[in-house]
Amino acid sequence: MKKYISFAIIICMAATTTMMGQFNDNVVIAHRGAWKQANNPENSIASLNAAIKLGCHGSEFDVHMTKDNILVVNHDPEFYGLDIESSTYEELLKKEHPNGEKIPTAEAYLKEGMKQDKTKLIFEIKTAKAGKDRTLELAKMSVDLVHKLGAPKWVEYICFDFDAGKYVHELDPEAKVAYLNGDKTPEEAKEAGYSGLDYHFTAYEKNPQWIKEAHDIGLSINAWTVNEPKVMKSLLDQNIEFITTNEPEMLFKILSEQKKNR
Ligand code: MG
Repeated sequence: MKKYISFAIIICMAATTTMMGQFNDNVVIAHRGAWKQANNPENSIASLNAAIKLGCHGSEFDVHMTKDNILVVNHDPEFYGLDIESSTYEELLKKEHPNGEKIPTAEAYLKEGMKQDKTKLIFEIKTAKAGKDRTLELAKMSVDLVHKLGAPKWVEYICFDFDAGKYVHELDPEAKVAYLNGDKTPEEAKEAGYSGLDYHFTAYEKNPQWIKEAHDIGLSINAWTVNEPKVMKSLLDQNIEFITTNEPEMLFKILSEQKKNR
């Protein structure tokens, strides 16, 4: 009897370990969080939480650096008329999103995302207008912040600046980094330390061999920003790992229809 109880305990422990820390197994990455149908400001904490609630595999967000070296989350280089790079964080606090949120710091954004472990945090290192050095400084501060918070498990990086991603890989060889700009072959990206390609979907239409070539050398494929069902279906047919979309609800609907018809 004792033997059976011990056995049952071991099984329960194994099941719990498998369930813990399992990120949602789907292709859906919410672009700037879930904002469109959910009516949230893009890149707000509300949009992150909406993406988590939907059950997305990942929620993407964009990170810039203020004049006084604070990492903040916003897509455009301006926040409601204030230029982020030439403003202090304090100055940016004068403006707010329509839902009353101030510009989130990357730290607050990551901490919010780390309250759960189903949705990954897809951290875009923006290219600084001030030039390469500032972009690399942003990359370094981003990796440092992620490590300081104990967030590596949640975070995957993406960037348009090829050197920034290369630098992230040098700083943290374990980090997953995908390249956004669509102008490198899978081999070139792999050589630089990237773990994936995350190109505009038209880049794969122009270079149809890239998906297979990337998969053959172990790179993952993501495509942005896919908002049309026809394109979503075509990419799903090509077995790409992720689809970044402003319409995560629509992509989930397509996935569940495909599951039903299988
Ligand atoms: Mg982005």
